[in-house]
Amino acid sequence: MALKVELVPVLSDNYSYLIYDEDQKKAAVVDPGEAGPLLVRAQERGVSIEQVLLTHHHGDHIEGTAEIVAATGCSVVGPAYEASKISGMTETVSEGDHLEVLGEKAEVFHVPGHTQGHIAISIASANALFSGDSLFVLGCGRLFEGGPADMWSALQKLRELPDETQVFCGHEYTLANAKFCATIEQGNAALTDRIAEIEALREKGLPTIPSTIGVEKATNPFMRADQANVAESIDMVGAAAVEVFAEIRSRKDSF
Ligand code: ZN
Ligand code: FE
Repeated sequence: MALKVELVPVLSDNYSYLIYDEDQKKAAVVDPGEAGPLLVRAQERGVSIEQVLLTHHHGDHIEGTAEIVAATGCSVVGPAYEASKISGMTETVSEGDHLEVLGEKAEVFHVPGHTQGHIAISIASANALFSGDSLFVLGCGRLFEGGPADMWSALQKLRELPDETQVFCGHEYTLANAKFCATIEQGNAALTDRIAEIEALREKGLPTIPSTIGVEKATNPFMRADQANVAESIDMVGAAAVEVFAEIRSRKDSF
């Protein structure tokens, strides 16, 4: 039986996820910024939470963990490089480690930049990537603990995933990201169409997640820093991709 993924809004604009198997009646949760909505959703689906998966140490991604552990006795998996910043982890992982989520194989990527030890987790059988605050829909995380080269190489890794991989990220920042993207790459028809789609979704109050790796590769300027059209749009023809990326990131910081 395939795993299902449901988005669970928490706090003001965070997304946590409930990954579950209806046959086994078991679930894992990703980035519980608060516990209540996840415990309720698991109960509604008739599944018990066995595992918490954490992408990075920021409070809005981990603060519900202790309450979920107290309620369920589940295990807690998170980034090895942030072991000193996250309490209560029962298993730490780094890139290349093969992790099991509800019996399915998961892959761990080290995607630094937003935080130094940030990880992203993909579950091939669920066709899903949980990117936390590394890759966003039409954006990427702010560089709090790393430089442009870190995030650019992180995004290049994620670009290698199959195009149909669904991207489940940590925040609903898409509309603001879309407005920014429109100022970066004007001649990209896929981006123009995507922005219209996003505006329609948000007008109805619907989430813009999941996106897919294929869609992000075609529309997200942070993933496209090595594309001639992007460099040209910001007058950086001939510059190294990492320089183009850095310029886009710094424009976004002050947008
Ligand atoms: Zn964060
Ligand atoms: Fe966050």
